[in-house]
Amino acid sequence: MTDMDMLLQKISVSFDGKTPGPSLPALCRNLLAEQKASWPDLSLGYKALASVRVKELRCNGFSVRLHHNPGRIKSTTAPLDQKSIEKRPCFLCLENLPEPQRGILYREDFIVLCNPFPICPEHYTIAQIMHCPQSFEGMVSKFLIMAKDFSPDFNVFYNGPESGASAPDHLHFQATTRGILPIEEEIKNRARLVFLKCINAIPLFRAKELGREVIILEGEDCTAIAFALSSIVSAMKSVKSSPGEPRMNLLGSYERNKWRVVIFPRQKLRPSVYFLPGNERILISPGLVEMGGIIITPVEKDFDRVNQELIRTIYAEVSVDEETVQKISAALPS
Ligand SMILES: [Zn+2]
Repeated sequence: MTDMDMLLQKISVSFDGKTPGPSLPALCRNLLAEQKASWPDLSLGYKALASVRVKELRCNGFSVRLHHNPGRIKSTTAPLDQKSIEKRPCFLCLENLPEPQRGILYREDFIVLCNPFPICPEHYTIAQIMHCPQSFEGMVSKFLIMAKDFSPDFNVFYNGPESGASAPDHLHFQATTRGILPIEEEIKNRARLVFLKCINAIPLFRAKELGREVIILEGEDCTAIAFALSSIVSAMKSVKSSPGEPRMNLLGSYERNKWRVVIFPRQKLRPSVYFLPGNERILISPGLVEMGGIIITPVEKDFDRVNQELIRTIYAEVSVDEETVQKISAALPS
């Protein structure tokens, strides 16, 4: 089968942003309904979501929600070293998708797929059709356009290859229901925001009392916000000492003609509790969802034992500190 045949077989519909027709959120909903009917594993994944135990933890200034979601075990414990990745077939390449899986061709080079291990009632993976490593390089405008295309129902997000992406070998984004992450509400409180600087009339803020650092940018002009976002990623790169993409998670949304991007600059992928021996080990592997305030614990004993103090410790370990954000800000053009 040629690559084109494979693509045609996997595509149920396409969205190019030009041809009049249903919105992308409407196409996603249709896809999800169809796939629940035709793909038993997906249907099981969504059924399992109904029995996820949820617990709210107030952490002195911010809240998180713990989700005991056993379906996420593979993603939480995915081996991310080069050797293990090379040994397994890439689960985002078209030829390796489960037989019943179908997707939406998105703007020619991506495919929107239903995530079979959902964290919320609507969870999509937007995978590049070509197998290329996870990298944000050259993706700034695409990410912003994607946030707009998925609005108003969904946010889109990006996990860096060393910051929670379970397929660091294949470029992908994700989309989840807007409003599910506790941080979305918390950063609406303007009293929390601390102005850092303006880049091309795009204001940048950090936020207080979240237990982890964020850089928030908002604006109506796609070109200006793309420039600001690229500048921040470059500044993060110049501040950190190791080569490659800076560790980060990005959350993008579009509402009332305005983009909002929340950047979580990271210093570490997994917290030290992840590496404790035997029974002491706690399986939490933070990606964007965890940084946004939903902490997935695939193992029940972890769900029962994680408390406010541990959450504060984990955030302090995996996020950069305030001083680093000030350095990033100082490294930006003004
Ligand atoms: Zn691949």
